[in-house]
Formats: sequence, structure tokens, C-alpha cells
Amino acid sequence: MGDSIFTKILRGEIPCHKVYEDDHVLAFLDINPISRGHTLVIPKEPAETIDKLSDDAAAAIGRVLPRISRAVLAATGTQAFNLLQNNGVAAHQAVFHVHFHIIPMHDDSTGLGIVWRPGKLADGAELAKSIASKL
Ligand code: AMP
Repeated sequence: MGDSIFTKILRGEIPCHKVYEDDHVLAFLDINPISRGHTLVIPKEPAETIDKLSDDAAAAIGRVLPRISRAVLAATGTQAFNLLQNNGVAAHQAVFHVHFHIIPMHDDSTGLGIVWRPGKLADGAELAKSIASKL
């Protein structure tokens, strides 16, 4: 895997506005924020997409996401936020190192816009069984 820009941030080769760090996780402000307080939380493990992340790295990031989210809300005076995690070019991933976006929604509706096109679940029993069999 080639180095991503986040690998360079982890190595200290590129600066960032750090908000949190521990042995397994780094969080810093997004350089092109969708809204004030837009923060990225990344594992130090260099997985490109979340399906390739180890259980331990996933646990480490999951443990701190609520706490960092609370801090973002408190610092920006917001109550609502989206947690976004893109995987693959088709899913709008631009940096190939796992990252979670914490995107506060402000009173003036500055925040993540979502186009949500719900369909109908046709083959739920079969599909759930198929997914479960692959775990
Ligand atoms: P994604 O589309 O989910 O891969 O999002 C990548 C995010 O990384 C975008 O929101 C970018 O603004 C952000 N980003 C790219 N380079 C930097 C950087 N050097 N420092 C902080 N955020 C960055």
C-alpha cells in the first residue's frame, strides 16, 4: 500500500490541527471542513478501508469516537452531528487510510447534506442468512 496523506500526518511529515492522540488513534481537524468542528478520527494502523481494519484497531477507535464527538459538540455549541465513514472511490473515499468524519450540524443547517433514497426490502431472510454465513 502506498503512503496516504494521513500516513504522512501520522509520521509528523505534514502538520495537522491535532485534537486527540493515543497509542492507536489520532484525531485532527479536516482541512476543508463541511462545517465548523469537522474532525477526522483515524487509526494508526494503515488499513485502506474499514473492512481491512483489525478488530483491535477497530476497538481502539470505537472506544474514543463517542468522547471525541462529545468534545466537538461542546466546543462548537452543537447538539447534532453525522458520523461518516467512506470506503472506496465509488463511496466518495478520497484518502485511502481509514477515517471517520465527525461533522457537526449547526443551527443554520451547515453540516452534511444527505441524499437518501430508501427502497423496499424484498429478500430479507435470504440476504440476512447470506451475510451471516460470511461472518
Ligand atoms: P474522504 O472523502 O472520506 O476520503 O475524506 C477525506 C477527507 O480528508 C476530506 O474531507 C479532506 O478535506 C480531508 N483531508 C485531506 N487532506 C487533509 C489534510 N492534510 N489535513 C486534514 N484533512 C485533510
